[in-house]
Amino acid sequence: MAKYVYHFGDGHAEGNAKMKDVLGGKGAGLAEMTNIGVPVPPGFTISTEVCTYYYAHNMTYPRELQTEVEQNLAKVEESVGRKFGDAQKPLLVSVRSGARASMPGMMDTILNLGLNDETVKGLAAHDERFALDSYRRFIQMYSDVVLEVDKEHFEHELFALRDKVGVKTDAEIPASALRELVETYKRIVREKHGSDFPQIVKEQLWGAIGAVFSSWNNQRAITYRKLNQIPSEWGTAVNVQSMVFGNMGDDCATGVAFTRNPSTGEKKFFGEYLANAQGEDVVAGIRTPLPISKAQVIGDEKSLEETMPDVYAQLVDVYKKLEGHYRDMQDIEFTIQSGKLYLLQTRTGKRTGFAAVKIACDMVDENLIDHKEAVSRVEAGQITQLLAPVFDAKEKSKATGGGRVLGRGLPAGPGAATGRIAFNAERAVQMAKDDPVILVRVETSPEDIAGMHSAAGILTTRGGLTSHAAVVARGMGRPCVVGAGMIRVDYARGELRSEGHEPLEEGDWLSLDGTTGEIISGNLATRPSEIVQVLLENSMKPEESEVYRNFDRLLKWADEIRTMGVRANGDTPNDARVARLFGAVGIGLCRTEHMFFAEERILRVREMILARNEEGRRKALAQILPYQKADFEGIFRELHGLPVTIRLLDPPLHEFLPHTEAQISSVARDMNWGFVELRNKVNQLHETNPMLGHRGCRLGITFPEIYEMQVRAIYEAACAVKNDGIDARPEVMIPLVGTVGELQLTSDMVRRVANEVLKEKHADVPVIVGTMIEIPRAALVADKLAETAEFFSFGTNDLTQMTFGYSRDDAGTFLPEYVDKKILPKDPFESIDQEGVGQLVKLGAERGRATNAKLKVGVCGEHGGDPDSIRFFRSCALDYVSCSPYRVPVARLAAAQAELEFKHYEG
Ligand code: PEP
Ligand code: MG
Repeated sequence: MAKYVYHFGDGHAEGNAKMKDVLGGKGAGLAEMTNIGVPVPPGFTISTEVCTYYYAHNMTYPRELQTEVEQNLAKVEESVGRKFGDAQKPLLVSVRSGARASMPGMMDTILNLGLNDETVKGLAAHDERFALDSYRRFIQMYSDVVLEVDKEHFEHELFALRDKVGVKTDAEIPASALRELVETYKRIVREKHGSDFPQIVKEQLWGAIGAVFSSWNNQRAITYRKLNQIPSEWGTAVNVQSMVFGNMGDDCATGVAFTRNPSTGEKKFFGEYLANAQGEDVVAGIRTPLPISKAQVIGDEKSLEETMPDVYAQLVDVYKKLEGHYRDMQDIEFTIQSGKLYLLQTRTGKRTGFAAVKIACDMVDENLIDHKEAVSRVEAGQITQLLAPVFDAKEKSKATGGGRVLGRGLPAGPGAATGRIAFNAERAVQMAKDDPVILVRVETSPEDIAGMHSAAGILTTRGGLTSHAAVVARGMGRPCVVGAGMIRVDYARGELRSEGHEPLEEGDWLSLDGTTGEIISGNLATRPSEIVQVLLENSMKPEESEVYRNFDRLLKWADEIRTMGVRANGDTPNDARVARLFGAVGIGLCRTEHMFFAEERILRVREMILARNEEGRRKALAQILPYQKADFEGIFRELHGLPVTIRLLDPPLHEFLPHTEAQISSVARDMNWGFVELRNKVNQLHETNPMLGHRGCRLGITFPEIYEMQVRAIYEAACAVKNDGIDARPEVMIPLVGTVGELQLTSDMVRRVANEVLKEKHADVPVIVGTMIEIPRAALVADKLAETAEFFSFGTNDLTQMTFGYSRDDAGTFLPEYVDKKILPKDPFESIDQEGVGQLVKLGAERGRATNAKLKVGVCGEHGGDPDSIRFFRSCALDYVSCSPYRVPVARLAAAQAELEFKHYEG
């Protein structure tokens, strides 16, 4: 029989950490903590399968669910010695969502459930004020989430009451006034909802369970899933747990903590708490919380370590136990009720790319994990954060000296960001279309998610390092500063003020240093990251940069693991240098046409195109040859014998010609052509469908002298470099091949010219000729092509274009809607379409290898730098991927991770 509900409590749980799919992250964590002896209030988890059932069966539950819930509730009652709905000793529970992947604040939570006009009296026997306060909180939360009565109606009354009794905080409102407030709240429910607030506690419970399942499909949860690629089929679990109270007096508290710093990775217990407060207050960022440890204290704040030393010591024991058990940084939530500690959640802590790399390296040094585990711990895409720019130190000290620092908040997401101020998420999304934006809010909430995503940086004036803004920004890798209390944001006036400074308005420039927390007015120049400074600029030494050293260690471990090579796409000696320094093992695609656009060359190229006969073309080509040769020499020199795949000319010739009347007239003047004559020639070369037109090897076949010149330049360059004692390994690649005849003709020509040059120069350079596979037909006849080609490189950009029939240049007009409507899971130009285009890659590689066992097979489309695509290419046993130089580190890591997964899968 199916099991839908899993109990935990009293040192034993039916679930465990491995059951995230069924129990969700929170449920699995509660079960595991219970099993290893961490104090957890008892409760039960309703599985994600119920959520799936709920949506598949018109919002209804499986028949057995009710009995299972009742049986589990009875167990909880027994364990805590209280009864649900009992007037004397009522059991109160929390009802929380918990999906497989963490979705902070996106779904609903209800606390203090089980209170009604009767049970509140039972609770009041202990402390009347506390009981009434809990009841009014419950009515508000339940009404907001389940009955859809907006919380503003309640908050309005609460604020009015504070004014009426003349107090500043909720904690000062006396019991008598709260009793009145509860009545007012119930009246609001009656008026807005049309019926009384439910008094039957079981009805409350089922209402809450239904609301949590429904919240899986609220708009902000959908947006979050889309941004984080969480499948909508997963569903959420529901956790029902007996309440513990952090708001029962001064020996109570609630807090959140990370076992290491989630922003920098520093190995220091790190967290925040609020004394006499309830659960959500900390995460919501409404009161700025206090630090947990003495080491974190700034000014005269009182840490938990000082105010409750015994509980703090227990907390330290628990966090060490949890980190040791999970062997990873944990993000925990705890509550202290009357001096006793309870854990309410543990999960693998979200962290920035900086923290991920440092924690992985530190944990290897602490013998907690091995190299393989370290490599699998860092999301490949996150490593790009380490390459992002930082503020230029000189510029920054000028700004600091010039009094432009408006204040300093908590550094919640490292990195430098400069942009124009937007005070709400909607404006941020709009303004980000033109300029980078800094989203400035008092605090953020889950509704702001789209604005946060489009912002370059995020600033809040309230909230701590675990506030919504901080957690979400870290997840997105956005520089973020929170809790900047010295800054006042006035939404009504659209102003940001800091004492002693001119107010700033929407659209003004603001800079944030997410590493130090500084907020600086104006547009501040940035400098390359420490890694770029060490590797590319030599302006910093490795010993000066821990970030660099850890980055380097991690990637070297990745290199030990991966079997797939990582090359770079690059067209210039500088690209080649960057590629090599970032660890590429060669150039996988050198697009020779990029060299044609340089100012002094384009004239020659145009002369070549406009030549009236072969002789004229050869004359112009002879002038281009030295340039090409010099470029290739430069690339070979940079690469010290690493292979360089050079693609012969690919784009249609009209791309090099002027198009507007003004451009035509200026070029006509430069080239001594008549305007009309030139315009006619341009029109003659015009193609209706240029990407399917006279390009690629079709050019080489109709104008062989172009390819001949390029091949000559390549081998002359290789010989020149060899003369200087440097090895050069060119591989010549023919683009846009679709038939065997095309490849045979062009590759014969390449070999002939190459051998001529080598003979002339008395040199010995291996002549290697291969083809791109970017036309579906080429993939289908790969077995025949491989009889001629020594290597294949899948041009997955064109292959995607031609397989789907989508134009690479225009598909942006409809693809986002296709993804929204789930016609496609992702943009197929970003991440390979495994189902369709992927088949051609797999089949092409297999067919090619069937006739040529030595065939080398790689990919050089944009997909070569995308971790998901890399995983797929590994599964097709490709030899290498090639991507832009700055993506090489991502690809190295992703290729190692693909290897680990693949080996694991293979057993
Ligand atoms: C490709 O088509 O994937 C490719 C690498 O070539 P280009 O992008 O230059 O067309
Ligand atoms: Mg192409």
